[in-house]
Amino acid sequence: MILNAILDPVLAIAGDHAHDVDADARFPEEAVAALRESGLLGLTLPVDAGGLGAGPHELVDVLGSLAGICGSTAMIYLMHVSAAMAVVAAPPPGLPDLVADMAGGRALGSLAFSEAGSRSHFWAPVSQARSNGAGVLLNAAKSWVTSAGHADVYIASTLTADADTVDLFAVPSGTPGVGVAGAWRGMGLRGNASNPMSFDSEVPEGYRLGGVGAGLDLMLQTVLPWFNLGNAAVSVGLSRAAVNAAIRHTSAARLEHLDEALSALPTIRAQLARMSIELASTSAYLTQAAARLVEPRDDTMLHVLGVKAAANDAALRITDSAMRVCGGAAFSEHLQIDRFFRDSRAGHVMAPTADALYDFYGKAITGQPLFGTQPSAPEQATA
Ligand SMILES: Cc1cc2nc3c(=O)[nH]c(=O)nc-3n(C[C@H](O)[C@H](O)[C@H](O)COP(=O)(O)OP(=O)(O)OC[C@H]3O[C@@H](n4cnc5c(N)ncnc54)[C@H](O)[C@@H]3O)c2cc1C
Repeated sequence: MILNAILDPVLAIAGDHAHDVDADARFPEEAVAALRESGLLGLTLPVDAGGLGAGPHELVDVLGSLAGICGSTAMIYLMHVSAAMAVVAAPPPGLPDLVADMAGGRALGSLAFSEAGSRSHFWAPVSQARSNGAGVLLNAAKSWVTSAGHADVYIASTLTADADTVDLFAVPSGTPGVGVAGAWRGMGLRGNASNPMSFDSEVPEGYRLGGVGAGLDLMLQTVLPWFNLGNAAVSVGLSRAAVNAAIRHTSAARLEHLDEALSALPTIRAQLARMSIELASTSAYLTQAAARLVEPRDDTMLHVLGVKAAANDAALRITDSAMRVCGGAAFSEHLQIDRFFRDSRAGHVMAPTADALYDFYGKAITGQPLFGTQPSAPEQATA
């Protein structure tokens, strides 16, 4: 597959609009239309469903490139891919064309997991679903949904009343009772339209992904690996863009009275070196984590947990250093480093948050259960 030939036109369009998407906090309609057109919405979906049949490594490449151009577009794309992977793992029988529509760019997807009630603990929805014989009544208030009001299908999580199980439903945007429920203006990823939404709807049983109670497994076994890997790729893409912009600026900006570039200052050179080395080591971890999804090993779950936390934190440090070495030029926005700095803060708080991941990772390597109380064998942390 010649990915660059498909991706480059999307990057060009995203780049033309990235600045005003951020400045005006508007949804990147142009870039998302280009993504729909390109076939990339089906990147990781099977060829027989109209997808491109690619895998984790290609997703990392696409997301990293997109993030370096427009972080908002990258995160919108990642939410679609995460939703699509859940749909293809457990296609809802009531929406037989959904996988093909998501693969073919006709249906943009997103995840509606987070709630005010359980905050970033997406595995514990407090929203309710209740069967009424004819269908399922959803009563779900979601606190953040990327592409809210722009997606064509939302994967919404609920707690099933009485059964006490977590369920996922694919809810098409036109369903009565589905709507944006408030305003959103972010510090970063300002084009995301990550508004709150409400789902007060009756939907057919056939909109459920998997059997009753299959939702938690889908979240943890399917969505989590793809989302964490992709979120880490966005962090690495933002970090790379910040490193490159910082090297460019400090090499070009001159101290005329000393007849030297900013990069000739030893403190700045050392900062650039630290940023570059941290970028290189995080990229290597990302590649290794992608390989673990392709060929699972005993430590795959550790990679899933660790790579997002590591890349999120690296992005905070790298973009902070980029702001620092570029001084007032970065502060005054024209380098766009401030955008990478602000955008990278989002990945860190997107669930599972980096701090929650450190806690899970710590539990895993000490044989403590991630959820519940049953102890398990310690996971072996390998290089
Ligand atoms: C740009 C953006 C887009 C988003 N898009 C979506 C979306 O499309 N769909 C969706 O479902 N959600 C989305 N979210 C929501 C996101 O996934 C989180 O749920 C949300 O950011 C959590 O915010 P909070 O203040 O409620 O976190 P809180 O849970 O209140 O966390 C506050 C602090 O407590 C820490 N903390 C919480 N639990 C633990 C723990 N167990 N161990 C250690 N520390 C912990 C956190 O790390 C954080 O530092 C988005 C968020 C952002 C910023």
